[in-house]
Amino acid sequence: MQYVVIDLEWNNAYSKKTSGFVNEIIEIGAVKIDEGLNTVDTFSCIVRSQIGRKLRGSVKKLTHLTNDDISTGVPFTKAFSLFRKWMGEDDTVIMSWGDGDIRALLENYSYFCGVETVPFLKYYCDLQKYFQRIKKRRADQQAGLITAAQEIGIDPEIYTHHRALGDSMLTADIFEIIYDENSFKKEVRVCNDEFYSRLLFKAKILKNIDNPLIDKKRLEHYCDSCGARCELTEPWRFSCNFFRASFYCKNCDTAYAVKVRFKKLYDSVDFKKIVTVVNNDPDDEEDDEE
Ligand SMILES: [Zn+2]
Repeated sequence: MQYVVIDLEWNNAYSKKTSGFVNEIIEIGAVKIDEGLNTVDTFSCIVRSQIGRKLRGSVKKLTHLTNDDISTGVPFTKAFSLFRKWMGEDDTVIMSWGDGDIRALLENYSYFCGVETVPFLKYYCDLQKYFQRIKKRRADQQAGLITAAQEIGIDPEIYTHHRALGDSMLTADIFEIIYDENSFKKEVRVCNDEFYSRLLFKAKILKNIDNPLIDKKRLEHYCDSCGARCELTEPWRFSCNFFRASFYCKNCDTAYAVKVRFKKLYDSVDFKKIVTVVNNDPDDEEDDEE
């Protein structure tokens, strides 16, 4: 088993062929790491743009790549055939910081090669997720590459940011520090059909209160002070992603404004509840998050 950290730069380009925007890959950077966690080789390649002739201003600024660079690079299929040769035939876990690059890969393979999978992807690990899990960060507290590096004592200034090779080297160094055999094994995904449907799944906010996925118990409210079940005084209505209602506790003479959000994920429903005590005294409001 070997590990390859991959980082891609892309340019959002308009395609006449599909009448839509494509995140066209313009640079590949990668680091190969052996089983003993030694960096053994690096790969770097500028990809010739075929959809967008010009780089977006934001991409130019971020990467310092020029329109000349991307017009003289290697075409997509050639670039990735070079990458696959470099990667070798061994069982490889491909890794990236967040799965955005893997989505872009999938989009580019579909556009240029007409395939719906990434041919060299057998095992995959999202290192941002792995970092989040071992650092016990909440799902909505994603750490950027720089933040993560600083948190574990790596000076990110010694790498070239927002260029594929620099970012992949920084990611590789983070991996070598946080790697732990047991916890890492659990984060490696086999890239089968389920992997791709998960990757392409789009989370959706539930807007209909009668949706069977909504657990009706979540629509009750118990008083924060005495624990008694509160009376619903204003029925649930939906606005700005949340269902909102008012509750009242007779014991404590306290009114609550409650809002709840249900988000359908691939195989679960994410739940968020925000409770505000509504008092006559406007200085005495508090926010409570569950
Ligand atoms: Zn109460």
